[in-house]
Amino acid sequence: MIQLFTSMEEVFENEKRYLMQTYKRERIVLKSGKGAIVTDFSGNEYIDCVGGIAVNAVGHCHPVVVNAMKEQAEKLIHVSNLYYSEPQVKLAEKLTEISSSGSSSSSGSSSGMAKVFFCNSGTESIEAAVKLACKVTGKHNFIAAEGSFHGRTLGSLSLTAGKKFRAAFEPILLKNVKFVRYNDATAIEKAIDRDTAAVILEPIQGEAGVLVPSEGYLEEVREICTRKGVLLILDEIQTGFGRTGRWFGKEHDRVEPDIMTVAKAMGAGFPIGAVLAKEGIEFEIGEHGTTFGGNPLACAAALASITVIEDEKLVERSRELGEYLMNSLNNLHTGENGLRLRSGSGYRYIKEIRGKGLMIAIELTNPCSGIIAKKAIDLGVLINCTSESVIRLVPPLVISKNEIDEVIAVLNDVLVFD
Ligand SMILES: *Cc1c(COP(=O)(O)O)cnc(C)c1O
Repeated sequence: MIQLFTSMEEVFENEKRYLMQTYKRERIVLKSGKGAIVTDFSGNEYIDCVGGIAVNAVGHCHPVVVNAMKEQAEKLIHVSNLYYSEPQVKLAEKLTEISSSGSSSSSGSSSGMAKVFFCNSGTESIEAAVKLACKVTGKHNFIAAEGSFHGRTLGSLSLTAGKKFRAAFEPILLKNVKFVRYNDATAIEKAIDRDTAAVILEPIQGEAGVLVPSEGYLEEVREICTRKGVLLILDEIQTGFGRTGRWFGKEHDRVEPDIMTVAKAMGAGFPIGAVLAKEGIEFEIGEHGTTFGGNPLACAAALASITVIEDEKLVERSRELGEYLMNSLNNLHTGENGLRLRSGSGYRYIKEIRGKGLMIAIELTNPCSGIIAKKAIDLGVLINCTSESVIRLVPPLVISKNEIDEVIAVLNDVLVFD
């Protein structure tokens, strides 16, 4: 590996000097990774329960992905969308197939996603979805949920509820967005007006701290949208590609959106996003575009990533290991884990465990998630906080049972108090 710096301190100093201070970073420099393990500058290993924030579903540097990317890079890295390229067309076909796999099809008709537009990130897929919804409905009002996170560019930021994301930029581009309570279908029905183009929701809210709606919520929203002639956009950027124990979050409620956005885990870490839509909902020539969208290298990475998810049965694995992790965490919570508590100690820090598949949150009783994350790093586990009182676990789906046990042991140490 090329030696870029001679010490971690040098990296920290130069980062501070040359980079906009956008990110609050933990003071470790990561250098390599394999499966669910990442290694830092000094050779320390960590079990990665962040996974690039639900990106590294197939683990770090999966050999199938690495080889596919190597092979593609030697042939063709980029061509303009002025021409055809094979990986893009193959990936689009594959996406429509997997995104329709869990559809109810009780009517017997294929109701899945029919067409794809490729972009390069989550926020871009939201931009495309919003633009598409405006175009096909001729309307410009949107309904989003409180707690929502849809991205940071001005269009997607307009649909993002959190003050911490918006405050410095108010008033934001789209002013015609109504925010309603998540998990309340009636609130959506009430908010719909003559100019509503679409309702946009995350099947499980990620950045809000892994909020799982009640069973039937999405189904009810789907019914309302259909009845009122309003489009339903599901943001599957975080919940997609097996994360929640299904290919997509929508499958838990057997709901088909009109438009669906994906990104994060799609390219196994290589940037790629897409918007998918039902038959009849699409852009026409010249209406949308992007230079890099669906380029051969990105699509080769995504095709390999999907192949690994299929071949290694990672969707099922996410479901099973997710249950195992949830149960273990719940046992920590109730003290029935078999791990010995130090005398006079308890787990008062845990308030609630929630999630689906390997998308799990631990809500704490105190706003101390940052300190806990730091302690976990010292013990060799990377965890991420969505707020001061919520820890999020979104490890690679290839994580082993033993590694989960190690994570539990570390959480046992950092969540206990004396
Ligand atoms: C991460 C995320 C986004 C934004 O994706 P970027 O690639 O960071 O732009 C949008 N929606 C959801 C649900 C996300 O988790």
